[in-house]
Amino acid sequence: MQHIIEGFLNFQKEIFPHQKELFRSLASSQNPKALFISCSDSRLVPELVTQQEPGQLFVIRNAGNIVPSFGPEPGGVSATIEYAVVALGVSDIVICGHSNCGAMKAIASCQCLDPMPAVAHWLRYSDAAKAVVEKKSYSSEDEKVNAMVQENVIAQLNNIKTHPSVAVGLRNSTLRLHGWVYDIESGVIRALEKNSQQFVSLSENPEVYFE
Ligand code: ZN
Repeated sequence: MQHIIEGFLNFQKEIFPHQKELFRSLASSQNPKALFISCSDSRLVPELVTQQEPGQLFVIRNAGNIVPSFGPEPGGVSATIEYAVVALGVSDIVICGHSNCGAMKAIASCQCLDPMPAVAHWLRYSDAAKAVVEKKSYSSEDEKVNAMVQENVIAQLNNIKTHPSVAVGLRNSTLRLHGWVYDIESGVIRALEKNSQQFVSLSENPEVYFE
């Protein structure tokens, strides 16, 4: 814990003074243009890989970058999406998975999750992706996990479309959805291309989006 507190002390002393004006302008309002939904994994830092300043990204993070489909008992993820779209008026939503994802590995390897009943329950929102992956064969466990990571991003993009605020935004063309997978080792991002349903290099295809 000590290094976290030392980090804060360094921020207060060395970093904050140089960004004083930015924080002053953000003190009473925010106007982020994008909602970024990613895994809680410590190795994927949305603001770092997209080089965004405070105030620019509205972020949801959870195990497996999961978006429960909309239902009669909406939870925290649903409320946060609704707030981002309706109150903040974001124009883009990115759902970003990542390589070596522990949640996706657990699903791909049918790992016993008995000691973690909440995780097991939560990952049920990825059942569509699991079903797709189980129908194919893979040459290695890594390849299967990679497929699970990609199919999970697709499944969560489908889930988010069931949210009323997102449905309205898509219908009115005021909202765009993006499906990304970040590779931890190479720093590469692959983005889902709607027509081909393939993940392509984002740096080579910066215009690519899902819907
Ligand atoms: Zn993860």
